[in-house]
Amino acid sequence: MQVYLDNNASTKPLDEVVEAMIPFLDSEYANPSSVHRFGQRVRHRVECARQQVARLINAEPREIVFTSGGTESVNLAIRGALAVEPKRRHVITSAVEHNAVHRLATQLAGEGYRVDRIGVDHQGRLDYDQLADRVSQDTTLISIMHANNETGVLFDVGRICEIAARHDVRVHVDAVQSVGKLPVDVKELPVHLLSMSAHKMHGPKGVGALFARRRTRLAPGTFGGRQERDLRPGTENVPGIIGFGVAAQEAAKFLQSGMEPIRRLRDDFERRVCKAVSIAKVIGAETERLDGTSNISFKQMQADAMLILLSERGVQASAGAACSSGAVEPSRVLAAMGVDPHVARGAVRFSLSRFTTASDIDRAVKVIGEVVERLSVLMLRC
Ligand code: PLP
Repeated sequence: MQVYLDNNASTKPLDEVVEAMIPFLDSEYANPSSVHRFGQRVRHRVECARQQVARLINAEPREIVFTSGGTESVNLAIRGALAVEPKRRHVITSAVEHNAVHRLATQLAGEGYRVDRIGVDHQGRLDYDQLADRVSQDTTLISIMHANNETGVLFDVGRICEIAARHDVRVHVDAVQSVGKLPVDVKELPVHLLSMSAHKMHGPKGVGALFARRRTRLAPGTFGGRQERDLRPGTENVPGIIGFGVAAQEAAKFLQSGMEPIRRLRDDFERRVCKAVSIAKVIGAETERLDGTSNISFKQMQADAMLILLSERGVQASAGAACSSGAVEPSRVLAAMGVDPHVARGAVRFSLSRFTTASDIDRAVKVIGEVVERLSVLMLRC
């Protein structure tokens, strides 16, 4: 029995998604920019997908720019927003961003931008006072994530926008982990730019979108054809876009029925793991989190050893920790939260989806108990 608990890394494409994509990998191969009938048929389907994605976040279709995924959306948003305001050279982000934003921010600092990374508390909550303190007339952009990919902890995007508005600063939100998993409505949240990725919501890999609110000025990062309103030139990834559209439509339906079942499974999972394993501790448990994310630390354990043993027994999960030159470095997200390195090194991320079942949870709890016991015996021997 295989139990897939790595849905924050990637999700299973829905059958409807795969079926919808197939004709565009086969007979519907025309270029959507071609004026002939075949091309226009494909164009029509690309524009339907744009509507489906727009509807998921209550945007206008023309506010959706298709990209190759979350990373490209983030880069287009940040670079594009900075390029149109060359006089302001201050960027604000958080200390717990995904590498897409984190490493771009480091690059920008190297290019002479002043970069502030706002801290978080021990639960992963953003320091909104520090954010308010750092925003100034010189700030070009605030780029902050909605849901953390490692802990699932949610930031209050409305509050971030309020702070930004006081200084007329634009806001980009990395919503790669939240769109499709919780309601996101850009008519309610006055963000200027918002990044999404299809493969986190049961769509295909290698396709995403940037929401760019009307009249938000943005410069392209690449040059070529006139596709995607000149912002993202190049022939579109048509099968990917079609699959993304269907995934967005299905996510909207799924959100109407609510996340309650996933939350119940996740809470049950955490309760049972903590009961069975005394060294287990849930990270970020006291604050608002994504319903399907559970980051559990097993004190004194090495997350990479746990992941291997879990995987051998059919439970697939992930860790934020990176292994470099043989030593496991604790995740920088957990370090920013002030988590003790001995605790952080043993942190494993389990992420559920709408396909996770109660028997998956039963199996995972049992296997986690066995793996911790096995590793404890091995550690005693060393
Ligand atoms: N931002 C966040 C918060 C993510 O979790 C990810 C992927 O894990 C990305 C950005 C990058 O998305 P993609 O894999 O589509 O490039």
